[in-house]
Amino acid sequence: MKLAALLLGVEDAAVDPPHGVVGCPSCGRIQELPRSAGHGTVHCLRCDHPLERTAGRASAAALACALTTFVLLFPANLLPLLRVSILGVVNRSVIASGVAGIWHQGWPAVAGVVGLEIVVLPFLRFGLLSAVLIAVRAGLRAAWIGPAFRISEALDQWAMMDVFLFGCAVGYSRVAPFLPITIGAGGWCVIAAALLTLVTRASLERRAIWRAIRPDAAFPPATALACASCDLVVANAQAGTRCPRCRARLFGHRPLATMRALAMTLAAFVCYPIAYVYPMEYSERLGVPHGYTIMTGVFKLLDAGLWFFAIVIFVASVMIPLLKLFVLSWCGLSIHAASSRRLRSKTALTRLTREIGRWSHIDVFTVAVFLPLMHLPDYLRVVVGRGLPAFLAVVVLTMIAADLFDSRTLWITDDR
Ligand SMILES: [Zn+2]
Ligand SMILES: [Zn+2]
Repeated sequence: MKLAALLLGVEDAAVDPPHGVVGCPSCGRIQELPRSAGHGTVHCLRCDHPLERTAGRASAAALACALTTFVLLFPANLLPLLRVSILGVVNRSVIASGVAGIWHQGWPAVAGVVGLEIVVLPFLRFGLLSAVLIAVRAGLRAAWIGPAFRISEALDQWAMMDVFLFGCAVGYSRVAPFLPITIGAGGWCVIAAALLTLVTRASLERRAIWRAIRPDAAFPPATALACASCDLVVANAQAGTRCPRCRARLFGHRPLATMRALAMTLAAFVCYPIAYVYPMEYSERLGVPHGYTIMTGVFKLLDAGLWFFAIVIFVASVMIPLLKLFVLSWCGLSIHAASSRRLRSKTALTRLTREIGRWSHIDVFTVAVFLPLMHLPDYLRVVVGRGLPAFLAVVVLTMIAADLFDSRTLWITDDR
């Protein structure tokens, strides 16, 4: 496929006729895509970004996965998630119990963010995606389909059923050796919905959906720019107006993106030491609090012989936030310095930052899952520590910064 794309670079359309012209979302280079031969990945000629992945799957597979996930979210939220028996007292929880518990302990902003990520946004993501895929398969040409697909794609990283499942698994493995804990019907639906979230992501052939909504440009205009959301190529004169396919505002480079991303990164740096010094949670036994910072949580998992989860938490909660802060600072500052060095590495790192950043939520979700379960009046309770809001702020601010950051700006020096 890469070879085919290269061939098309010399306009050998007879070998593999072009599919249309797209703009690379990572570097902005406008290029022709070859007609897909069924399987493989077409990479950007300049920055190596995978422009199109084709596995020969019909959109019916993605629709089946998205729709099943959407339907499963109802029992996953309404039926019991987990049940724990402590000294004869049985505590049951649903997904929203942890959100309510965090709210009642005086952290409404944290409860709001966690509630959005594990309750509201999964419904929105899979509801919108199912509606779009049904409309595309029915051959509809309604104006709402493009914006709906753009929003559902933007929500993909914020709808966190898959990360939530990992949070549940870590907490489960911590508690199971000491207390009888059972997975409720809602818990099984969470497992199924989380796995289907991953399958949906893998089976969705985004480029084909965009083409079905509105075909790519056949030939690039003399002076062209590309939509940063759907990669549609339009004339430069359309800058500042709305994309005819997805209704996002069109820019050659998103204005003030680097400054905004750096401001978010700086705010994350301020929260970073607080997140690691203060406990994420306190486990109160007979009124005596035992604090757990991120690192004590990792050591507890090691002590319990849970090596896999200890490594997962260390990578997700320590390594990934550090990597994100480093990459965002490096790329932001190198744009200010107009550096043209290592552009491919910087672009690949910003893409990686965007893709893995969400997994840092595991520790937060572990607290949210077990806060309503580990509760026995006057004997035992879990209390949110100051480290948790600070850590959530680091994770969310760096995710927003990675979203805001327009890696096409890195390539301005190369464009000249
Ligand atoms: Zn590129
Ligand atoms: Zn667009």
